Amino acid sequence: MRAVQFTDHGERDVIEYAERDEPERGDGEVLVDVKAAALNHLDVWTRRGLPGIDLSMPHVPGSDAAGVVRDGGETRFDEGDRVAVWAGVACGDCEFCRDGDEPLCVDYHIIGEHVPGVHAERACVPAENLVRVPEGVGWETAAAAPLVFGTAWRMLVTRAELRAGENVLVLGASGGVGHACVQIARHAGATVYATAGNEEKAEAARELGAEAVFDYTDENFADAVREATDGRGVDTVVDHVGKETWRDSLASLAKGGRLVTCGATTGGDATTDVNRIFWNQLDVLGSTMATRGEADDVLSLVWEGALEPRVRETLPMSEAAEGHRMLEERDGFGKVVLRPDSET
Ligand SMILES: [Zn+2]
Repeated sequence: MRAVQFTDHGERDVIEYAERDEPERGDGEVLVDVKAAALNHLDVWTRRGLPGIDLSMPHVPGSDAAGVVRDGGETRFDEGDRVAVWAGVACGDCEFCRDGDEPLCVDYHIIGEHVPGVHAERACVPAENLVRVPEGVGWETAAAAPLVFGTAWRMLVTRAELRAGENVLVLGASGGVGHACVQIARHAGATVYATAGNEEKAEAARELGAEAVFDYTDENFADAVREATDGRGVDTVVDHVGKETWRDSLASLAKGGRLVTCGATTGGDATTDVNRIFWNQLDVLGSTMATRGEADDVLSLVWEGALEPRVRETLPMSEAAEGHRMLEERDGFGKVVLRPDSET
């Protein structure tokens, strides 16, 4: 079988689509024929190399995929079942797991980041990391949704406790998490503001329900948010940009507002105006991934069509490097999907 893999960390030229041994199904695992997979920024970080993570090489990346069960072993899955991967792996036994809050697990792993991933023709996945995909849901949708919609749901619904009638600012609405946040916030009954880097992306964000979209390349978004809200600011800001936007994200919040972050693509060493936090009584909330229950909740809305991952491009796995380029250069809106070359 063939898989996307790299033997050394580095730039995009380390990515290859190579012949590998068939994965061997362990206890509690399911062998899946992958029909579609999706890229996340995490795949870029993993390729470049993350501190403290020592991978066994060559490494197959990839946290999102969907396909058909080839061999379910003794699990609850049977040959022919339609499934999608939920990439979060928790120990099940630490104090946080016992409380049911898997993303806080002291030994939390992500498929594709710490352990072999699913950008391959076939993959072995623990049964508890598979969700059923109803007939009628396309493979691209099933592959593109889990990681970003799960992450966005926990950020907005669980952590920021977004409520109908509130307003929210979503930074970087063209990215996977950003475009999921716009849809979830709108679905929750909030007024959504967003930022995007060009008019085409802004139009796509408006189509998904954003009330107004600010072009961060030619205006200060904190000023634009103040103007759009009669000087009040927003109840919640979703920031996954980090250093570049942090100050303005805090400056966009109304009194008592919440800033929720799930990443720092431009760097983590941001400057915080502490006076603004205590005087305006702001909450700064971190979030990562989701519990399997949260993923189930949001995916059921995706399966019924209330939320929908947008696909910016579908590529054969042999062109995975081009997909990495699109993410790194913020080229396009929504998700990049990969399909095994044998499926295209
Ligand atoms: Zn745990």
